[in-house]
Amino acid sequence: MLQGKRGVILGVANRRSIAWAVAQSCHNAGAELAFSVIGDRLEKKVRPLVEGLTDLGDRRRPPVLHCNVDDDASLDSFFAQLSEHFDGKLDFVVHAIAFANREDLEGTFVATGREGFHTALGVSAYSLTAVAQRAAPLMAEGGSIMTLTYLGADRVLPGYNVMGVAKAALEASVRYLAADLGPQGIRVNAISAGPISTLSARGIAGFTKILDHVKDRAPLKRNTEAAEVGDTGLFLASHLSRGITGEVIFCDCGYNTVGM
Ligand code: NAD
Repeated sequence: MLQGKRGVILGVANRRSIAWAVAQSCHNAGAELAFSVIGDRLEKKVRPLVEGLTDLGDRRRPPVLHCNVDDDASLDSFFAQLSEHFDGKLDFVVHAIAFANREDLEGTFVATGREGFHTALGVSAYSLTAVAQRAAPLMAEGGSIMTLTYLGADRVLPGYNVMGVAKAALEASVRYLAADLGPQGIRVNAISAGPISTLSARGIAGFTKILDHVKDRAPLKRNTEAAEVGDTGLFLASHLSRGITGEVIFCDCGYNTVGM
């Protein structure tokens, strides 16, 4: 489904990362990939995963390049290397990045300080726009940009706090970016994933309670698997979703639809 397509995956930290699930689905569908990491410690974890991707055929081994999405110079250097690797052509972007200070993911939202607010909104929401600015010039033939969001954008969930506000800003950004980039044939969407036990998720106070609750209440009576989000990412990267932009697509076993 993605033969001949070139995509960049931002946000793999380890094999549990949602970004890794999307990468696997897209790799298995024939896409040629590149990865971003932040810092040498993560590179050591991510490189073996990328080197383990099999059945490359005539695709080049994906590069693992450094990128801090909170730093314009780092983004510029990353996209310059990406453009060189992909000969100036990019078809899709997977933005699966979020960060907030640990103390802002517990207790009350009302206690959020100015710096913590800026950190969460900068890394988790503004970064999508910063990435889109640099990706769009490489998408002369159109493309697909996707990000990862969560129900906490719409509803209050214990411990999610400032990240809920960041996800609301991220989802609004998706709509504005979709409007701006649509005339170039670039689609921008978000996947709202159900709770999945990843490195970031485990930083949210009471996360296991959320997992138990969702399992109990979701129409499918189970939690979302990362591979299911991966396949939703594959759909958004592919021709099959060509009529969809500016949307938030839920992949959460239906949890967002129930009232009680
Ligand atoms: P994860 O910890 O595996 O991934 C988060 C990634 O963000 C990491 O790779 C980390 O290195 C990267 N990152 C943080 N700050 C960065 C920066 N300044 N520059 C570059 N990269 C940076 O966790 P995940 O759960 O796979 O998270 C991926 C996305 O999915 C996030 O946007 C998250 O909010 C979203 N999401 C997660 C869940 C869940 O329950 N796990 C549910 C819905 C949405």
